[in-house]
Amino acid sequence: MTGDIHVHSRYSTDSEAEMEDVVKKAVETGLSYLCFTDHIDYDFPYEETFDFDEAEYFAEIRELKEKYKDRIKLLAGVELGMQEQVAKRYRDLLKEWPFDFAIGSQHLVGGKDPFYPETFEGQNESDVYRRYFEEMLANIKAFHEFDSLGHLDYIVRYGPRKSKNYSYRNYADVIDEILKLLVRYNLAIEINTAGIRKQLGHPNPHPDILRRYRELGGTLVTMGSDAHKPFALGFAFDTAKDLLKSCGFTHTVYFEKRNPVFVKL
Ligand SMILES: [Zn+2]
Ligand SMILES: [Zn+2]
Repeated sequence: MTGDIHVHSRYSTDSEAEMEDVVKKAVETGLSYLCFTDHIDYDFPYEETFDFDEAEYFAEIRELKEKYKDRIKLLAGVELGMQEQVAKRYRDLLKEWPFDFAIGSQHLVGGKDPFYPETFEGQNESDVYRRYFEEMLANIKAFHEFDSLGHLDYIVRYGPRKSKNYSYRNYADVIDEILKLLVRYNLAIEINTAGIRKQLGHPNPHPDILRRYRELGGTLVTMGSDAHKPFALGFAFDTAKDLLKSCGFTHTVYFEKRNPVFVKL
């Protein structure tokens, strides 16, 4: 049994995928469950906003859930862009709407989107990476009511040298603090295969980090492709499963009504 629980649709500002096309592709790919995790990034410091109409979102998922109920299990999740000052708004959102699953993700560094090359201009790449991890740590201290930490080393996708000079060891002091908080709050870590798709040579995060989470007592791993187009659903999941086994995990988890469901690797 395999499912993809980090998936975007047109409810995300950066995707045009119709939900039904995503569901059809998931069925065709042989996935047994699928969780939409469209973006909400409150206070995003650019003109574009990452937010959606929750009522419309849940209504469409409910309809598709019914239509495809014999073929796939559909779940309604959200990917929350963490920033300290919006922690309370996210807590309220998660109380107000019946999400199955919430991913907490860090999409900014120094108030800027690393997707834009100017975020790195005139700066040492490793300083930007370090700052990203430090901000993530501060954000998790302020807000840890999500279920799984998304793409922990996402920043590496966008650095000028990407993962060429990147190693967990250079940031182990900060990253270990992040992992200890995950274990303390009983939060999952995500293996996000978009890193492989984007040719970093590893998923996000790097397997060294997944292994370290396991060493520190973490057992909960969620698996997602971060697909913004249907073709990327379930990308490199066989590779990801092998990596997880080699890191000492026996199961992945998905979340239903915010409760973990274990799936044997
Ligand atoms: Zn993300
Ligand atoms: Zn995403």
